[in-house]
Amino acid sequence: MATLGNPQNTIAVLQKYNFNFQKKFGQNFLIDTHVLDKIIRAAEITREDFVLEIGPGIGTMTQYLCENARQVLAVEIDKTLIPILADTLSEYGNVEVLNEDILKVDINRIAREKNDGKPIKVVANLPYYITTPIIMGLFESHVPIDSITVMVQKEVADRMQVGPGTKDYGALSLAVQYYARPEIVANVPPNCFMPRPKVGSAVIRLVRHEKPTVEVEDERLMFRLIRASFNQRRKTLANGLNNSGELKLSKEVITRAIEELGLSPGIRGEALTLGQFAKLSNIIYGMLHDLTVESLQH
Ligand code: SAM
Repeated sequence: MATLGNPQNTIAVLQKYNFNFQKKFGQNFLIDTHVLDKIIRAAEITREDFVLEIGPGIGTMTQYLCENARQVLAVEIDKTLIPILADTLSEYGNVEVLNEDILKVDINRIAREKNDGKPIKVVANLPYYITTPIIMGLFESHVPIDSITVMVQKEVADRMQVGPGTKDYGALSLAVQYYARPEIVANVPPNCFMPRPKVGSAVIRLVRHEKPTVEVEDERLMFRLIRASFNQRRKTLANGLNNSGELKLSKEVITRAIEELGLSPGIRGEALTLGQFAKLSNIIYGMLHDLTVESLQH
């Protein structure tokens, strides 16, 4: 089987198997060897590495991964691609293909069983319709991860990388930056894919922090605060927190917490840094804890 990654060989495989692209699975296959080389280099794959690939498609990037990694596990939802992958990957003894929905796979178990619980690398040209749940799922489930190198929609890559004061800054920026250091590695135009996506793409590398850059008493509370603050972008932080269905904080707690943080009552959530959200969350955590103790004493 010839190496994929160029239009001719990709078309030959698609025709051989009479493959029909499924829009609902976000299928845009890479047909540019330079981009593939760039992804592999950015991911810094070595012979020591166990790599999880999400959505191998016809196995284009999988071939590159097999050439460079110790072991590759590729998870593909589309069952019509499984016989194709058996063919395109037949020369490699270091790859396993799993026909599953990545959102339902226990990746912690995979890391435990296949990599002795040591950090894995994730590499993918992601299906764009589930970019956020995939990335947040990897971080929030505390899978041992070294780095995630993925192709995503350009706009989403920008959102992951920016800080306060820009229009793209939001809950995704804060969540990603809490767990990792993001770095856009390459911008990739639509003509590098088959079929061509309607949007621009970018490769982003997220290197997991060894330890968080901010200290947070209660991660869940901080992320609730963040979500509430960005739910209503045009509103003040106080109003955003007050109107949140999932938080249920009294006006007094909100006002006192913002004051204690040393911020003006009219500040908007989008102006806060990750460090400030962490502090806000710790202040509110302390207040809620004090209130519980008080009510127990009465
Ligand atoms: N890696 C291939 C490439 O670069 O040419 C294909 C990338 S394509 C953008 C995304 C792939 O993810 C498709 O093969 C699609 O079928 C697969 N996919 C979509 N949803 C998935 C899911 N929930 N779990 C696993 N794979 C999925």
